[in-house]
Amino acid sequence: MKKHNFSAGPCILNDKVIKNSAEACLDFASTSLSVLEVSHRGKEFSAVMEEARNLFKELIDAPEGYELLYLGGGASLQFYQAPLNLLKKKAAYLNTGTWSTNAIKEAKLVGEVEVVASSEDKNFTYIPKNFTIPEDVDYFHFTSNNTIYGTEIRKDFDTKTRLVADMSSDIFSRPVDVSKYDLIYGGAQKNLAPAGATFVLVRRDALGHVDRPLPTMLNYETHIKKDSMFNTPPVFPVYVALQTLKWYKEMGGVKVMEKRAIEKASILYDEIDRNKIFRGTTAVEDRSLMNVCFVMNDEYKELEPEFAAFASERGMVGIKGHRSVGGFRASLYNAMPIESVKALIDCMTEFERKH
Ligand code: PLP
Repeated sequence: MKKHNFSAGPCILNDKVIKNSAEACLDFASTSLSVLEVSHRGKEFSAVMEEARNLFKELIDAPEGYELLYLGGGASLQFYQAPLNLLKKKAAYLNTGTWSTNAIKEAKLVGEVEVVASSEDKNFTYIPKNFTIPEDVDYFHFTSNNTIYGTEIRKDFDTKTRLVADMSSDIFSRPVDVSKYDLIYGGAQKNLAPAGATFVLVRRDALGHVDRPLPTMLNYETHIKKDSMFNTPPVFPVYVALQTLKWYKEMGGVKVMEKRAIEKASILYDEIDRNKIFRGTTAVEDRSLMNVCFVMNDEYKELEPEFAAFASERGMVGIKGHRSVGGFRASLYNAMPIESVKALIDCMTEFERKH
C-alpha cells in the first residue's frame, strides 16, 4: 500500500533525493567508495561541501557578505551559540512556542533578554501582533515556524533592528529578504537533509563585536575560516542537503516551493473548515503552511482513535499531533507531493460520510 508520510520529522525528503543519496552510499562520485567512508578532506567531498554552501546561498538569494555553514549540535545548540556570537548587551525575543522558549532560556545565560510578547496564554495558538521591536537591542529573535503548534510568521519584520531567526521547519518554503538578517539558522532535518546537520547563514559583519572569549567550536569565525570544515563535518547530511538543493533548483527554486506549499496547505485547511468532524487549532491568519494542526470537534471527540486507525489503514503515517496540542498534525514539508495531501483529504471526507 502507498504510504503518505505526514511526520513532523526528522527528515522528509524527495524520493529522487533519497535514491541519489542511497546510490552514493555504494559508489560516491565514481570513486568506487561510499560517501560514508571517503575522506572529508578529499577533493570529491570538498567539492560537495563547497557546492552545498554556495547553492544554499544562491537559492535563498543571500547578498554578498553572508556565510553558510553546516555545523553539528542542531538548532538547539544555536539557541546558545547565536547569542554567544551576537549578543553584546541586550536582545529582544518573541515567544511563540516551545522552541522560542528554549531559545530565550539559553540567551539569558549570555546577556539581557527582553521578551517583547508571548502567546503562551493561549497555548501558543496564535502569533502575538501588538508589540514593538525595540531599536536599542543587538537583534530581534523569532521562530518563523512553530512546528509543534502549527503557527507561522511568513514575513521578514519591517524594522531597523537586525533580525535573527530559527527557520528550522520552514526554510526554503518562501523567499526571504536575507539582507534584514544577521543570522538565519535551523536544524536541517525538515526541508533539507537527514538529522545531523545544522545550517547557519550569518552576516560576516555582524561578527567580531562581542568582548567575551568564545570557545573555539562555538565561534562562527572558526568555521568560516575553514570553509565549514574546521572539524569533521556531518558528511552524509551535507551530501543529502546538496541533493535537495539541486532538486529545489531543478523545480524552479523557492518561489515554486512557496506556490506548492500554499496550494497544499490551502486545500487541507479548506477541508478542515468544511468538514463537520474537524477544526483547526490555531488562529486562521497565523496558520502554518508546513504543519497543519487539527482536532475533532467536541461532539466527535470520542471518534479520535477511530479516525487515527481509519487513516492509518489508508496509508497515512505520522499524523498524530504533538502531545502538547493533541489531535492531529499533518506536516507538509517541501518534499511532500500534493497527491498525499489529497489522499488525506479523501480520507477525512470519507470518514465524515461514515458518521
Ligand atoms: N526549532 C524548531 C522550529 C524546531 O522545529 C526544532 C525541532 O523540531 C528545533 C528548533 C530543535 O532542533 P534540533 O533538534 O535540531 O535541536
